[in-house]
Amino acid sequence: MSETWIRGGTVFGVGGLKKADLVVTEVGAHTPNEGVNPPATAAVIDARGLYVGPAFVDLHTHSRIPGKDGSESPESLSRAAIKGGYGSVVAMANTDPPVDHVAILEQTKKRFDGLPIQVIQGASVTIGRQGERLVDMVALKEHGAVFFSDDGDVIASARVMRRALEYSRDLNVLVAEHAQDSELALGGVMNEGEISYLLGVQGIGEDAESIVVARDLELNRKIRGNLHLMHLSALGSLDLLKYAKASGIPFSSEVTPHHLLISDSELATFDPNYKVNPPLRSKDTRMALRSALREGLIDAVATDHAPHAKHLKERSIKEAPFGLIGLQSAFAATFTAMMQDVSFGEEEEDSIDTVISLIFRTMSIRPREILQKVTQSEMLPNSYVVLDPTLEVSQRESDIASLSKNSPYIDRKMHGQVVSLVLGGKVVLENCELQGEGA
Ligand SMILES: [Zn+2]
Repeated sequence: MSETWIRGGTVFGVGGLKKADLVVTEVGAHTPNEGVNPPATAAVIDARGLYVGPAFVDLHTHSRIPGKDGSESPESLSRAAIKGGYGSVVAMANTDPPVDHVAILEQTKKRFDGLPIQVIQGASVTIGRQGERLVDMVALKEHGAVFFSDDGDVIASARVMRRALEYSRDLNVLVAEHAQDSELALGGVMNEGEISYLLGVQGIGEDAESIVVARDLELNRKIRGNLHLMHLSALGSLDLLKYAKASGIPFSSEVTPHHLLISDSELATFDPNYKVNPPLRSKDTRMALRSALREGLIDAVATDHAPHAKHLKERSIKEAPFGLIGLQSAFAATFTAMMQDVSFGEEEEDSIDTVISLIFRTMSIRPREILQKVTQSEMLPNSYVVLDPTLEVSQRESDIASLSKNSPYIDRKMHGQVVSLVLGGKVVLENCELQGEGA
C-alpha cells in the first residue's frame, strides 16, 4: 500500500494545532510511533515550518460541464482545485444543459471519472432551472445526488421552495439557495451604494438578498429541511442568521473569499473581473462578513469558482457576465482577508495560528460536516494539504491552471501558498508543482 509521510509540520487536528509527523495512506492517516522512520517505498514531504491539515472541500464550484463555451475542462478543473488545496468540490447544476434529470446526471458524473479530485455533482431544484416544477428529487437521490440548487438564479416561488425543503428533509439532501430577489436585482451590475452612485452604474442592494434569506429561514422554521444559504453578502442576512440561530431554525451557510477580501471600490476601475453575483459589497459589510465567519455564524468559505471564456469577460462592465475564478487562490485570499483584522507584532505567530485554525475549520471541517450529513459517509480521510501562510504571493496569469483567466487576484499581493497536497495517500502537488495523477 502506498503511503506518504508529511514530516515536521504543525498539524491541525481534534485538539487544535500541534507539531507532529503524519503518515497518510490510501485509507486514512495516523501519527507514526516515536523513532520509526519512513520505509524506503514511502513518499516523504518536508513540512518543517509549514501547516498541515485536512484537504479543502469546496461547496460551490461551477465546473461548466456539460457546456459549450470551453471555459473549463474536467482536467483543468482538477488542476485548479489541486493547486488550491482542494480534494473535493461540489459542482453546480447551472450547466448547459442543466443537470435536471437522471440521464444527464449520470452522463455528467462520467465526465469526472478517473480524476484525482472528487467531484460531487449537484442537481437543479427545478426542471430546466425555470423555477416552476421540481425535478424528480427521489430518482436523482437514488442516483447519488445529495446537493440540489438552482444556483445562478433564486428559487423565486415560495411555494416551490417550501416543497423543495420538505423533500430535502424527507430524502436527507441539501437544498442550496442563491438568495436574491430577481426583480430587485434586475439590471444591476454592482453593489448599490456610494460607489455605484458615483460611477452612475445600476446597483443591486443588499435587501435583494436579505428578503429571500428571511423567507427561506421562515419556511424552514416548521419544515426543518437541509437549507444551505450560498455566498452571503448582506448585513441584513447576518442579523437574520442570528435570529434564526436563537429560534432554533436549522440552516448552514457560506461566504466567498472575494466577499471577505475585496470591496465594491474596486469596481471604479470598470474591470469586469470584479463583476460578480452577489456583488462585492461595501467595506463595512466586508468587515461584518469576516466577523460572522470568525464567530461561526457563517459555517464555511466556498469559492463560487465561475470560469468564463475570455471574449465574454472582455466585454464592457455592463455586458460582461458575472463571476470570477476562485479555486486556486481561495486560501491566499481568505488568509489575507482574515489576517487584515489581527494586530501584527509580537503576537504575530499566535495570530497566524488562530487564522490557520479558522481556515481549516471553515474550508475543510465544516464543509465536510455539511456534506457528510447527507452522504452519510466519511469524506477524504486520506487527504491532507500543506500550507505556507507567510509566503507573499502574487498570481500571474501564466500560473492559472483553469482554462479561464477571469481572476481579480492577478498581480495582487496576498499572503499564503498551498505548497503540497496528498489525495488518497498519493502526492498530487509538491512544492507548488503538480505531481503524478495531479499533473
Ligand atoms: Zn449563486
